[in-house]
Amino acid sequence: MAGAGPDKWSLGPAVTVLILGGTAEARALAAELVADGIAVVSSLAGRVSRPALPAGGVRVGGFGGAAGLVHYLREHRIAAIVDATHPFAAQISANAAAAAEQTRTPLVRLERASWREHANAGEWTWVPDVAAAGEAAESWPRPFVTTGRQSLEIYLPWADREVLVRVVDPPVIALPERWTVLRSRGPYTEVDERVLMLDWRVGSLLTKDSGGEHTAAKLQVAAELGLRVVVVARPAPPPGVHTVRTLGAVRAALRRADT
Ligand code: NAP
Repeated sequence: MAGAGPDKWSLGPAVTVLILGGTAEARALAAELVADGIAVVSSLAGRVSRPALPAGGVRVGGFGGAAGLVHYLREHRIAAIVDATHPFAAQISANAAAAAEQTRTPLVRLERASWREHANAGEWTWVPDVAAAGEAAESWPRPFVTTGRQSLEIYLPWADREVLVRVVDPPVIALPERWTVLRSRGPYTEVDERVLMLDWRVGSLLTKDSGGEHTAAKLQVAAELGLRVVVVARPAPPPGVHTVRTLGAVRAALRRADT
């Protein structure tokens, strides 16, 4: 757009950017765009109680598949979509790609770096899904499970084992009495993780490739303590979507979308 320098935002309040959110990065992006005077609507799935709310407009709940998202994009005259959802939220990302293509709405995906690039990644057991994580850690000592509350059913056969589970929201299924369930929300520092893992005498770690430095502390401490680690790999992203890692790169992509 004429007159728009590299630091001057060219999208105006007449258009709305839809941020598919539910992550810290999505909230940070919403804050930056709102500060730039851009009309923003962040969309949350509505899964967690008391979600951290982003700046700007917010809507909550599913759209009704890709078709529902197409309808939403048209009805609200969305100028561009930023898919800043979690790397494991594969369905909404696929829907965003399909709806963007159908409506010819510019789409950019903001995705944290994978832990594949972590210095210790070669020492971990990488598996394609949570079921395989359960199989890998079947005989490992005192597992610390951080693969999310929706994954817990897989580990129920471990009822007679000492298991430490950390979740944000309460599990929706009854868990064995021997297990210890911690409810908390990150990010965690290495000090936090070291204290927890030493206190509880964690013997092994089950996690997924959520990525991002602010969630890497437990992997750092696991390496220090020489623990066995299994990591669930990310689902494949939808093909052909422009993917970036920084807020600056999202803004650059949106500026291009506006020209
Ligand atoms: P998912 O499996 O990809 O999505 C399932 C359905 O939930 C989607 O088809 C969509 O329903 C709805 N949905 C998901 N994200 C939405 C959003 N941001 N706005 C509106 N509707 C959304 O997603 P998920 O793995 O359950 O994750 C749900 C949300 O939690 C995401 O926003 C994600 O960023 C966040 N989150 C996920 C994880 C994780 O490990 N999966 C971790 C942290 C945060 P309709 O088809 O009806 O539109």
